[in-house]
Amino acid sequence: MNCLFCAIINGDIPSNKVYEDEKCYAFLDIAPQAPVHCLVVPKAHIGSVDEITSENADVVAHIFTVIPKIAKDLGLVGGYRIVSNIGENGCQSVKHLHFHILGGEKLSDRMA
Ligand code: AMP
Repeated sequence: MNCLFCAIINGDIPSNKVYEDEKCYAFLDIAPQAPVHCLVVPKAHIGSVDEITSENADVVAHIFTVIPKIAKDLGLVGGYRIVSNIGENGCQSVKHLHFHILGGEKLSDRMA
């Protein structure tokens, strides 16, 4: 499978890693949309939120236990936003489940 984020997880494409464990990988977004913009991805390929099932949901729960630690490490003391884009209308450009962590300033109160 030709997947950009699988290649990043495997180290075939370089990234600015901020966190890694056996289940997930986090790295800085190459085109940040906030002063802090990090992506958290499961190591196992899942296409998007639409492909989360009762069989693979444990990694999603795990990611959501890790996100607050990453946010703290990144200095996001005043809060932050988590975004996951799904499909064409959601403007998902990389078809590997990922959660954007956005912060470092007061974000827009508009989400779309
Ligand atoms: P989405 O549009 O929700 O699918 O998000 C994909 C994100 O991946 C975008 O914010 C891109 O800027 C980011 N991105 C694409 N290529 C890379 C890369 N090589 N390293 C880090 N982030 C990337």
